[in-house]
Amino acid sequence: MFTNLARATADLNHWIEIDLDALDANATAVRTRLEPAELIAVVKANAYGHGALEVSRSLSVQGTEWLAVAWLSEALHLRRAGISCRILAMEHIFPANAVAVVTNDIDVCCHSLELAGALAKEGLRLGRPARVHLKVDTGLHRFGLALADATALGEKLRGMPGLEVAGLWTHMANADESDDSYSDSQAAMFDAAAAAMPWIPFKHSANSATALRRPELRHSASRVGVMLYGVVPDNTPDPGLRPVLSLKARAARVMDLAEGDGVSYGLEWKAKGPARAALVPVGYADGWRRSLGNKGAVLVGGQRVPMIGRVCMDQFLIDVTGVAATEGDEITLLGKQREESITAAEVAALTGTIPWETLSALGRRIPRIYHRRGEVVAMDEAL
Ligand SMILES: *Cc1c(COP(=O)(O)O)cnc(C)c1O
Repeated sequence: MFTNLARATADLNHWIEIDLDALDANATAVRTRLEPAELIAVVKANAYGHGALEVSRSLSVQGTEWLAVAWLSEALHLRRAGISCRILAMEHIFPANAVAVVTNDIDVCCHSLELAGALAKEGLRLGRPARVHLKVDTGLHRFGLALADATALGEKLRGMPGLEVAGLWTHMANADESDDSYSDSQAAMFDAAAAAMPWIPFKHSANSATALRRPELRHSASRVGVMLYGVVPDNTPDPGLRPVLSLKARAARVMDLAEGDGVSYGLEWKAKGPARAALVPVGYADGWRRSLGNKGAVLVGGQRVPMIGRVCMDQFLIDVTGVAATEGDEITLLGKQREESITAAEVAALTGTIPWETLSALGRRIPRIYHRRGEVVAMDEAL
């Protein structure tokens, strides 16, 4: 199995390459700029499509001590695979989840006294305190508690046997907007929370878009996701990040078309003259959006060629007229091919979304191949 990339992918219809050297370099670039604040590496949503297990393993080997995911199920998946870092499950959990939380030593967000009670009970039973983070809703109005409620709950949790209040945190609403002045008022409210609960020493509020630009938000640690994967938020200077993920496929069929021939469902696209089309075995079920039909481009033989016709669930077509393409040729959907490259930001813009969505939407049906300098070091099974 451990071989070079070319050999490992020779008979695959589609695959995702994850460049672990680029991941390491991005993590180092981010960490260096955050210091002395720690890095909480956000690996939710299958590490933004990159594969949560291998990404977490690689980051932890490199010295990342903290991981964050959205849901408890994601945290348990990492623990079951033997990841021993601190893991914060950021979103809502139920009191009935207390056993799993404490048994698996997951840091969670606590939003009610009832939940705290259930966690503390397990903490006492297992002789190891449940670790909770108190989240202040400073204006995003997503998960968390209003300042007064957070402070009141904090007082009740302080010193509760079986429970440790391990962190105070919040999340920014306008971090990556060109005008992010709203972050100032959020920061002020978070500072008020910190002043009211000075006994909680570990504080975290920044995400990628704020961590680099706003030193005052770094606190003890910053929760960075998208930058680890090589995406720089629009309003943030690039610290020299490299894309980690490439999406590739092999032409499944190359065909000649006559003038007037249509391709794919609805026959929306029609050849204006003699043409050649190639079939690319990636579809909307893999996260390659249907709205890219007749709009997107891919790389073949180092050239950009247009997508034609509608994207199907499992495949789509490209116009390779005048390009020397044959069945089995490597096609790059995301990533670099010779001098050309296609970024997640470019694809996101074409589909009216953000690179966070383009990457995290990439499905589990496509195998992930992890490499360092072209040598395969791990593979995630598809599905
Ligand atoms: C996803 C998420 C992050 C990471 O955001 P990036 O923009 O990818 O850095 C941080 N904190 C919370 C609460 C999140 O949901």
